[in-house]
Amino acid sequence: MTLLDYPGKVACTIFTGGCNFRCPFCQNASLVTHIDEDKIDEEEIFEFLEERKGKLDAVCISGGEPCLQKDLVSFCQKIKSLGFLIKLDTNGSFPNVIKNLVSQNLIDYVAMDVKNSPEKYALTAGIKVELENIKESIDFLKNSSISHEFRTTVVKELHNLFDLKAISKWVSPSKLYFQQFRDSEDVIKKGLHAYKKEEMQKNCQECQKDCPNVYLRGI
Ligand code: SF4
Repeated sequence: MTLLDYPGKVACTIFTGGCNFRCPFCQNASLVTHIDEDKIDEEEIFEFLEERKGKLDAVCISGGEPCLQKDLVSFCQKIKSLGFLIKLDTNGSFPNVIKNLVSQNLIDYVAMDVKNSPEKYALTAGIKVELENIKESIDFLKNSSISHEFRTTVVKELHNLFDLKAISKWVSPSKLYFQQFRDSEDVIKKGLHAYKKEEMQKNCQECQKDCPNVYLRGI
């Protein structure tokens, strides 16, 4: 159960295995690279959800990258048939999957990572990125009526104020959360650092000049 993953809702989170990105700061490295370990049967998931009808409001589908899952549409349909709201966490590289889910009213909230300014996207995603897909997802969410947020995990070695301002301008006026990087045993690359709280606050204030809806998270 989580009170943090879906704004204002009591939710549970399902983590899907596998990702097309290799962000050096990723805290779910084992989910990204060891996708066959610790799998939970779908049957078990739906038994869990059946028992929690009326107790949980929502299901967050996170990753990894959920849009890689071939059965995502039918999976969401089954969750919806139980009456839950669905939040999708995504890196935004599959705009058509997002559009399809939205058009079928299968998701209620989208949280999309914006890894960095366009120039530093590949560096920050750890892999060559089709930037057109990222732009398409951002444009779609900005112009759609679905509840959404953008979010950036801020890492000292990858983001300077110039980058953060570029991201802010890119997604404005949508909500943008700068999340504090946390080092752990499960990150893809060791040796990365977070900004100090005061530095994050200063960066946030600067970026609010470019997007009025920039906030900090996890500080
Ligand atoms: S942080 Fe990057 S590598 Fe990790 S799951 Fe998200 S998009 Fe994939």
